[in-house]
Amino acid sequence: MSRFFSSKYSSLEPYVPGEQLSDSEYIKLNTNENPYPVTADISDDVLAEIERLHLYSDPENKALHKKIAGTFGVNENEVLATNGSDEILNFAFMTFCDAGHPAVFADITYGFYPVFARVNLVPFRTVPVNTGFGINPEDYYNAGGTVFIANPNAPTSLALTRDEIEGIIINNPGNIVVIDEAYVDFGAQSCVPLIKKYDNLLITRTFSKSRSMAGARLGFGIACESLIKDLNTVKYSLNPYNVNRMTAAAGIAVLGHEDITKKNIEKIISTRENTKKELKQYGYEFPDSLTNFIFMKHPGIDGFEFYRKMKENKVLIRHFSVPAIKDYNRVTIGTDEQMKQFTALARAAAEGKL
Ligand SMILES: *Cc1c(COP(=O)(O)O)cnc(C)c1O
Repeated sequence: MSRFFSSKYSSLEPYVPGEQLSDSEYIKLNTNENPYPVTADISDDVLAEIERLHLYSDPENKALHKKIAGTFGVNENEVLATNGSDEILNFAFMTFCDAGHPAVFADITYGFYPVFARVNLVPFRTVPVNTGFGINPEDYYNAGGTVFIANPNAPTSLALTRDEIEGIIINNPGNIVVIDEAYVDFGAQSCVPLIKKYDNLLITRTFSKSRSMAGARLGFGIACESLIKDLNTVKYSLNPYNVNRMTAAAGIAVLGHEDITKKNIEKIISTRENTKKELKQYGYEFPDSLTNFIFMKHPGIDGFEFYRKMKENKVLIRHFSVPAIKDYNRVTIGTDEQMKQFTALARAAAEGKL
């Protein structure tokens, strides 16, 4: 640390992203990326923007907002596109949290939430998940602050129903409820339709998982017009051109191929269900995932040891050192071929042969 580092931030513990090794001999199942690349026919649209790179991108993201609004059945003024959904989440912490409105989220959830709270100097309170890692909706009634729920949750892979989320919204008339739907396309119910009914609901979405665009950095928020206005006040105070031209073009083009997205999602779900069956046979335990990852452990294998053995065998998975989940690893669903290699190793590990 230099002697110039502001005391506001010098004790920050930053978010630690999953390893991104350049060594391509690894099977990468550690950051919940989509194993299927985006369809090739978006490249003309993206390349056309390169000729316009000398011009700023559209700060209002009109074309992108229009496409998102059409796809998700909302109005353009109910959408705000951002640089990944991490940016809309950060905007939400900035816009809707303060000393009187602390952030409230599960003790086991997306590791970025406490980081966003700390970097924005807002207090937060965590709510324990239950013994099966599930979220009890009633624990968030009258939360006394801004609620953040990843639905489905990460890394636990479990989801609440739309009715359960609606219960949380109804029982927080004085609080904002933020639902992070990064994984919702893999089998859970989206709460997007509820933004028409409630003025205290913000949904955050990403192109990184189900739409295969993690490297482009594109996310968005959906909420009633007045919340989007508040978020825009913060956006225009930080980075008006937050979505670059190529990414906006890629996003619009990808939303023009929802059929392909749907097929990829179906494929990932089918691979996930096959992987679950096989892992169960070898004695692995996991919550019943509605995401593109499995949060798994084996009663006879140390969690970190499992991670280490997989890495030794060129398979990268995610281990969290947090005590409550140290026995577990989060394993992204890859292609059938990748999962075949992973389950073969998992079988060997369970039989003590690895
Ligand atoms: C991956 C993820 C995000 C954000 O991803 P971006 O790439 O920034 O859009 C948000 N929330 C959860 C729970 C995630 O797992």
